[in-house]
Amino acid sequence: MSVKDKIILITGASDGIGKMVALEFAKKGAKLILLGSNGTKLNAVYDQLSGVEKDYHLSLECDLSLLNDQSAIEIEAAIQKHYGRLDGIIHNAATLKKMTPLIDLETNLWEKILKVNLTSEFIITKTLLHLIIKKENGRVIFTSSNVAIQPKAFWGAYAVSKYAVKGMAELFRQELENIHQIKIFNFDPGPSPTSMREIAFPNEDKQTLKSLEKLIPCYEWFFSEESNNTNQHYFKFSDFKI
Ligand code: NDP
Repeated sequence: MSVKDKIILITGASDGIGKMVALEFAKKGAKLILLGSNGTKLNAVYDQLSGVEKDYHLSLECDLSLLNDQSAIEIEAAIQKHYGRLDGIIHNAATLKKMTPLIDLETNLWEKILKVNLTSEFIITKTLLHLIIKKENGRVIFTSSNVAIQPKAFWGAYAVSKYAVKGMAELFRQELENIHQIKIFNFDPGPSPTSMREIAFPNEDKQTLKSLEKLIPCYEWFFSEESNNTNQHYFKFSDFKI
């Protein structure tokens, strides 16, 4: 079970869960394409990545709320030029913005949240798919949340987006897994100590939450040969018995 030499795009690699996955996967020899909107934070993560000669990893500053077909083609071209193929995508980037009743949610925020959390994943997946299916055992990992199963008041467009991502991941799975050597997973990491969690639960004691490192074996498993044989496609952190 190894991510060594695997070429993996991690969106939202500049902070929180995505940053932890990037730092740990780099230690294990993965070749990473880091994507985030904040160039300063992204560069700081890039500089901390392990062990690498120049050009081993790639950093792409990109505001997913502005992504369109053309900018996705530019991302595809950058990966194509740098590596020539891709082993997987971890669609981790998302935004919550704020907790609010739907009737108070500004339409421009609604649109931005759905663009970042849902539409950008659709555009990136369809644009990069041909790079992934060049090799066997490709992976696309979407990120879920408990509000994708049971919407909760005040989670707004974020909850709507995660509900829709669940449906989209299932469609990609049905359409792609039969004709390509690819697995499509959707993973709910569960309560994790990040800035996003703090927006939802500002008074929570972070010490009561699991550490982000605990998530790493889950992400590694998604890239393992063992996971080729599973029929399960939606996972929660608690499924891993860690
Ligand atoms: P953080 O807020 O800590 O990190 C979010 C990441 O997404 C950042 O790297 C941020 O990068 C990136 N991002 C946000 N907006 C954009 C944008 N417009 N363009 C590009 N990148 C963007 O969140 P978490 O680490 O907590 O969340 C990671 C994933 O896990 C999300 O999908 C979330 O829904 C999910 N999740 C988290 C849980 C938790 O308890 N933390 C629980 C269940 C699910 P930048 O700042 O550079 O834009």
